[in-house]
Amino acid sequence: MPYILSLDEGTTSARAALYDQQARRVSMAAVPIVSHFPQPGWVEQDASLIWTSQLQAVRNTLGLAAVTPNDVHAIGITNQRETTVVWDRATGQPVAPAIVWQCRRTAARCRDLSAHAAKITRKSGLVVDAYFSGTKIEWILDNVDGARAKAVNGDLLFGNIDTWLIWNLTGGRVHVTDPTNASRTMLMNLATGDWDSELLSLLNVPRAMLPAIVPSSAVIGHTDAAIIGAEIPIAGIAGDQQAALAGQACFAKGLSKNTYGTGCFALLHAGATEPVSENRLLATRAASTTKEAQFAVEGSIFIAGAAVQWLRDKLGIIDNAPESEMIAMSIPSTAGVYVVPAFVGLGAPHWDAEARAEITGLTLGSGRAEIVRATLESMAYQTRELIQAMEGDSGARLAELRVDGGAAANNFLMQFQADILDRPVVRPADLETTALGAAFLAGLATGFWKSEAEVQSFWRAERVFEPQMPTSERDTLWSGWQRAVAKARSNC
Ligand code: ADP
Repeated sequence: MPYILSLDEGTTSARAALYDQQARRVSMAAVPIVSHFPQPGWVEQDASLIWTSQLQAVRNTLGLAAVTPNDVHAIGITNQRETTVVWDRATGQPVAPAIVWQCRRTAARCRDLSAHAAKITRKSGLVVDAYFSGTKIEWILDNVDGARAKAVNGDLLFGNIDTWLIWNLTGGRVHVTDPTNASRTMLMNLATGDWDSELLSLLNVPRAMLPAIVPSSAVIGHTDAAIIGAEIPIAGIAGDQQAALAGQACFAKGLSKNTYGTGCFALLHAGATEPVSENRLLATRAASTTKEAQFAVEGSIFIAGAAVQWLRDKLGIIDNAPESEMIAMSIPSTAGVYVVPAFVGLGAPHWDAEARAEITGLTLGSGRAEIVRATLESMAYQTRELIQAMEGDSGARLAELRVDGGAAANNFLMQFQADILDRPVVRPADLETTALGAAFLAGLATGFWKSEAEVQSFWRAERVFEPQMPTSERDTLWSGWQRAVAKARSNC
């Protein structure tokens, strides 16, 4: 029986999942990925370990389902976006650690680019920020001995994690990316879908090192049989958030989702017209299953579930993330305590690289439960900021919010989200929408599934959280949050 294999390389783990003809997940395996923090605000990962961990996850998921590589009809790939790898074309060895999307090392460089900010936003759809790959590539070329000269000669290659995995899966034969990933580099012209010469020269990135931009849903190469055991078509590529949009069956204008993972990302499908945000959201590419370009508006929050990891790993006040739900529900409110998780600055809609995290409103009565609950609530408050900005741009009120990602399993958080947003929150049966979306793109490209309509028929809601909070309470909590954010922003 044939399957679609999805590779989902996230910030905290490399996962692989197998889907059958009815888009049921038959197996899934994850291998953890470790981040390193060599300086305040810096975040790195080992690119070679990302690849070997991903390969291990593939082997594990095939083994769990007792499926051989020959049974895999096609592969879809989705990945943590913006994370930057530069490697030697001849040896395949990375020349530096992967610079992770959260890394702020190029914040000063981005301030220097402010004179060009309007042009960069107009062309790329992005707000100038250290988040995106462009200044990360420039940093590697400027800080690794001899790298710039080699890159100009085409001896070094750049890739986000999709490109890096495909290069390795194909034994170094295919160097490509897709428009959803390319639209996060600050180097692609959002309208044309091609690398932009002016942006390349502004950021000093040689064209010779860039991958070819290929469609998100098409056969772009085959795996090397020596590596994975069969020559399998690679037929889907999308950055994780655009994959989740597809996995939530949001293929048309006006549909939206919010993912609660390491960060939090709300995307609103904008159809075939390039959007322009008046509220400091990003314009980006959505994964298209046809030749026509598709766009989305995006709100990106850098720290969401990562703040829960911080409670576990740095404060040591929880043993595991799921436990946070019970602790939060053990008290009726935080009694005025707010956590603003600006550990790496604030993303949309503030874009404040200098803001720093804060716990405010502490009294002698505040303890572990208040801090845990306030941390969970911070994800919901930040999401409301994004949804308000989106609604300000589009002029339309969202009817409901479709949710996914690891922290969407938290029932307290989902109910609080519905309450603070005053909108129903809809959680699908399969929370792994990122992996599912990449599978959809590969399955649609290879005839495994026939149409978007067929794929949409697989989507099922598991639970709807209806808003229950009185308006006065919602308004009071919201004003408190806004005051707390103002304090975190004045820290610089
Ligand atoms: P990513 O794809 O970014 O690696 P995931 O979607 O796997 O992330 O989500 C993992 C994140 O969600 C972690 O940061 C973790 O702390 C958080 N998380 C997982 N389960 C829960 C939960 N039940 N409650 C709150 N946070 C959770």
